[in-house]
Amino acid sequence: MPESGAKTPEPALEPLLVELAQPGRYGRHVRSNDAADIPEAFVRQAPLRLPELTEPQVVRHYTHLSQLNYSVDTGMYPLGSCTMKYNPKVNDRAAALFADLHPRQSYRTTQGVLALAYELEQMLAKITGMNFVSLQPQAGAQSEFTALLVFKAYHAKRGEAAQRRRIIVPDSAHGTNPASAAMCGYEVTTVKSDARGNVDLDALKGALGHDVAGFMLTNPNTLGLFEERVSEVCDAVHAVGGLVYGDGANMNALLGVTRPGDLGFDCIHINVHKTFSTPHGAGGPGAGPLCVKAHLRPFLPKPWIVKEADGSYHYDTAREDREPAGLGDSIGTIKQRLGNFGVLVRAYTYMRTLGEEGLVETSNDAILAANYLLARLRGRYQVAYDRTPMHEFVLTAAPQKRKGASALDIAKGLIDEGFHPSSVYFPLIVPEAMMIEPTETEPKETLDAFADALLRIADRVDTDAASLHDAPVTAPIRRLDEVSAARKPVLRWQRPA
Ligand SMILES: *Cc1c(COP(=O)(O)O)cnc(C)c1O
Repeated sequence: MPESGAKTPEPALEPLLVELAQPGRYGRHVRSNDAADIPEAFVRQAPLRLPELTEPQVVRHYTHLSQLNYSVDTGMYPLGSCTMKYNPKVNDRAAALFADLHPRQSYRTTQGVLALAYELEQMLAKITGMNFVSLQPQAGAQSEFTALLVFKAYHAKRGEAAQRRRIIVPDSAHGTNPASAAMCGYEVTTVKSDARGNVDLDALKGALGHDVAGFMLTNPNTLGLFEERVSEVCDAVHAVGGLVYGDGANMNALLGVTRPGDLGFDCIHINVHKTFSTPHGAGGPGAGPLCVKAHLRPFLPKPWIVKEADGSYHYDTAREDREPAGLGDSIGTIKQRLGNFGVLVRAYTYMRTLGEEGLVETSNDAILAANYLLARLRGRYQVAYDRTPMHEFVLTAAPQKRKGASALDIAKGLIDEGFHPSSVYFPLIVPEAMMIEPTETEPKETLDAFADALLRIADRVDTDAASLHDAPVTAPIRRLDEVSAARKPVLRWQRPA
């Protein structure tokens, strides 16, 4: 309630609601005289400036808006690198059990919460082949940043902080990799990929030196391909005293198949919102646990969850009946104690309901689905690096572009076919890239329908490529002017002048 005399900010009015409004229409009001008990200073002098509508009109308006949305509950999401997978509804039920949890609640009254977090750490360590896990980072990008702070602290401890000022990233890397390195104050060196889509080992060796703090590698890389010489890559980085960071945003192809810890990585982050459910939009919600080998543990964010011999849990820095352990060599706190806990509960529930066997099956099915889809598309679309992909693959629409329809036109055409578009123009090293990840949960009928849609679009490109320039024609919003949308975004409805 505004203080008396303060100006009430004008509410932003929904356009449709304004158009539907008629003076005198209202929902069910509470018409008691209790307003008489409100102190004079707080009583509203003029009615709120709101559109006048009945309750069903308002409910229908918002229900209609929700129906304009495409979501994982309404259709397949083939977005490569993002993994918009099925989120079992029981995960949401489980997360809701913790909705009242306060981040600073004592360990004494939250033993079950700490047990869940501790067990999740153990499971992630086992899956990745690492020794310790921090659940704090709340996104992949934040986990990259955290890991690079850990690298810095590790080199500082060895007296090499000033000397090690470079981070190397492959040219196929996700954009967050060089961005995180730059935010940590590192210089970024890019190495090219070879003809098979791997890191070019000679180029990497040429870039390595004793001024290198670390190398960031995504495996399978953003071409959906397994790095064929990953152990040699890790050895080369270690030989000059550098550390190897694994970008494990998408672990969907690796569960029970191989472990980054066994391949030579010093640490890896996992986007649990991509690999272990929790569908996410741009900006979240997410969680990016950081899993490290023992030599990096001292630098992990604090507090840590400690399990005592008697099975009880506490935070190492804040046990009320003990001297706090202090920060030691830790980089400090990145996010409140338990990170983005609702997302972590979903990941925990996902793993516990599937079990080890189920998790291995998800990876096998994800790889099978991607390879099936690629087999159906290969005749009509060019594959960027034609090898057996893992859970996703990258096509190049360069041949279609020469006929007059770009990757963007094809993506917009998919909307008219009733599908969400794939990722396009990523990774950057593939011209007219179309990056497709079907996920393990789509049945064959859906994969076929999606392949049929892309094949119909390929036919359209051959017969009338220009017709795709108008797509989408069936969506509530037609094609945007992408330049103005990026440069001059209109983020909320504005009353026409
Ligand atoms: C999604 C993704 C990231 C970034 O993760 P966010 O949670 O969006 O910050 C980093 N690397 C790769 C390979 C990714 O796919």
